[in-house]
Amino acid sequence: LLAVTGLRKSFGDNLVLDGVDFAVGRGEVVCLIGPSGSGKTTVLRCLNGLEAPDAGVVTFSDGQTQDFAALAKGKEARQQRAALRDRSAMVFQHHNLFPHLTVLENVIEGPVHARGVARDAAVADAERLLARVGLAEKRDAYPHELSGGQQQRVGIVRALALAPDVLLFDEPTSALDPELVGEVLLVLKELADEGWTMVIVTHELGFARQVADEVVFFDGGVIVERGHPRDLFTAPTNERTRRFLDRIL
Ligand code: ATP
Repeated sequence: LLAVTGLRKSFGDNLVLDGVDFAVGRGEVVCLIGPSGSGKTTVLRCLNGLEAPDAGVVTFSDGQTQDFAALAKGKEARQQRAALRDRSAMVFQHHNLFPHLTVLENVIEGPVHARGVARDAAVADAERLLARVGLAEKRDAYPHELSGGQQQRVGIVRALALAPDVLLFDEPTSALDPELVGEVLLVLKELADEGWTMVIVTHELGFARQVADEVVFFDGGVIVERGHPRDLFTAPTNERTRRFLDRIL
């Protein structure tokens, strides 16, 4: 569905991504792991058009090619990034809900304003999706009236409501109290089982082992090793991967 080739990005003198390549098939789940500062978040932000890379190409399998090398400046760059944003939806570490809007209004905001969906259709879809994550009765609540886990589930519903080709998650559970992590991971697992295409930055290696079709290990802005979690977690071939896993597992 999605291929990334030769992605490069610097912030000033800091080379953050030094030629990153990977592909995600339709319905596949790819987990990005690696030490803090290794560039994982920057990859997601480039995929979502939030960041303009210095070089690289993102290709969707329907033939729409986004040449990031041309993306650095100008109107065309902004148009291409907006087109990329239409293909994906991102769930952040902090849910980023609008505090002054109800749960329902938060969910329909994107479809109605960014995608031009009719309000009635957006409301019906939002209600269906909220029920799907067990939050139907919270539709008129405000974010501060919800637990962190419920807020993050609304964040996920908000992404689903955009009907993206690919869901991008940036450490979706790392801001949560430990007892709330499970309910959010369960929703992610159900989405994976339903066949959503997902790229997930996570430190939850047990979760990655359960759901990932491929785990990609980043260090220092490059992909050091990748593989099926069964192989990568039990028999990493690279010394850097081994050291990282020893520290975490
Ligand atoms: P973490 O697990 O801590 O989120 P990460 O692997 O996701 O780490 P990134 O957030 O992609 O790493 O950051 C990679 C590097 O890029 C870091 O050195 C960071 O300081 C730098 N960086 C990220 N965004 C910016 C920015 N907007 N301006 C300058 N430097 C940035």
